Amino acid sequence: MEKIELLEESKRCLKCKNHPCENACPIGTRIPEIIDMFQRGEELEAGKILFENNPMSLVCSLICPFENQCMGSCVRGIKTTPVNFPSIENYIMEKYLRETTFENTPSNGKRIAIVGGGPGGLSGGFYLRRKGYDVTIYDDHEKMGGMLRYGIPSFRLTKDKVDLLEEKAYESGIKFQGNKIFTEDSLRRLKKEGNYQGVLVTTGAWLPKELNLEGVEREGVYYGIDYLKNNIDLGKNKKVVVIGAGNVAMDVARTAKRQGNEVLIAYRKKIEAAPATKVEIHETVEDGVNFLTEVTPVKITDKGIVLERNNEKTQFLYECDNAIIAVSQKSQFNVESLDGYFYGGDLVTGPETVVKASFTGRESAKLLDDYLVGKE
Ligand code: SF4
Repeated sequence: MEKIELLEESKRCLKCKNHPCENACPIGTRIPEIIDMFQRGEELEAGKILFENNPMSLVCSLICPFENQCMGSCVRGIKTTPVNFPSIENYIMEKYLRETTFENTPSNGKRIAIVGGGPGGLSGGFYLRRKGYDVTIYDDHEKMGGMLRYGIPSFRLTKDKVDLLEEKAYESGIKFQGNKIFTEDSLRRLKKEGNYQGVLVTTGAWLPKELNLEGVEREGVYYGIDYLKNNIDLGKNKKVVVIGAGNVAMDVARTAKRQGNEVLIAYRKKIEAAPATKVEIHETVEDGVNFLTEVTPVKITDKGIVLERNNEKTQFLYECDNAIIAVSQKSQFNVESLDGYFYGGDLVTGPETVVKASFTGRESAKLLDDYLVGKE
């Protein structure tokens, strides 16, 4: 949307006193206040407020499940359509991040390691760096971004947005060490051996939740998160079945479709019960992915997948070349109570939205700051 259209859109906001939109935002974005500032032309100031509250604001303006959050709670939505705040936020954040040079806050002499450079770690990192801590982010991937870069397909989030956040992280003085793999043990030793005063662990939930299904080890069977992370190309004109109906399942199905394949999502419940948002399901349907609901996978054979219709209890073979299991993810590390260690993001909550990872990353960074201030 052009700025002039966004200004028109912003005039639809009633500046509700009890701001239900803001209350529905997991990170408490000050929506009516930001809209006010936008109308007054104070875009860079508004961008600063948005970023300091939520360093993932740019990303959130593109991929948050708005229908369950700000837009789903907007008073305007009762009779007509909700105020399109995400588009306003997106305009502000693009401008703010591209036109502002981030301050490299002088060091307070304390060193903090963040393990995991996804949305949780980055949010925590920006917060701590602003407070003066020397922050080093470690990640097992080559670059920063975590799920933003390696889990969310680029048709939903273009990588230039992640590059922009990375650039701002470097500009603010955050250091980064990629391709760094930790074990439980080396993670425990990091604080002492790296001479850090605190460690924030935000390693996410990258391991697929396994499905106890006969034939799961067959060639051509993948787990959704591995398929996305490793950019696996299935080739063209294949028949692909995706098991699951959450956000990752939708991303997997749409990616496989874009690779030129015939894709079916098989889900054990009614579509209304799917964890993915209505918008995502709608977009997946628009992309030409088919759905088969109320079926349970029984086994995977060399010909395809055997499914059982829940009501009739009848089984049938759905012939396919690939099956991709996207039922959920889990984390690789345990949350331990070690002195000076704090935890945030999907590691703590299980697989969640970017905005929730940003929130818990920031909150755990605040706790770490309180802990270090308390030690002075
Ligand atoms: S609920 Fe809608 S109309 Fe009310 S303040 Fe929020 S965006 Fe504006």
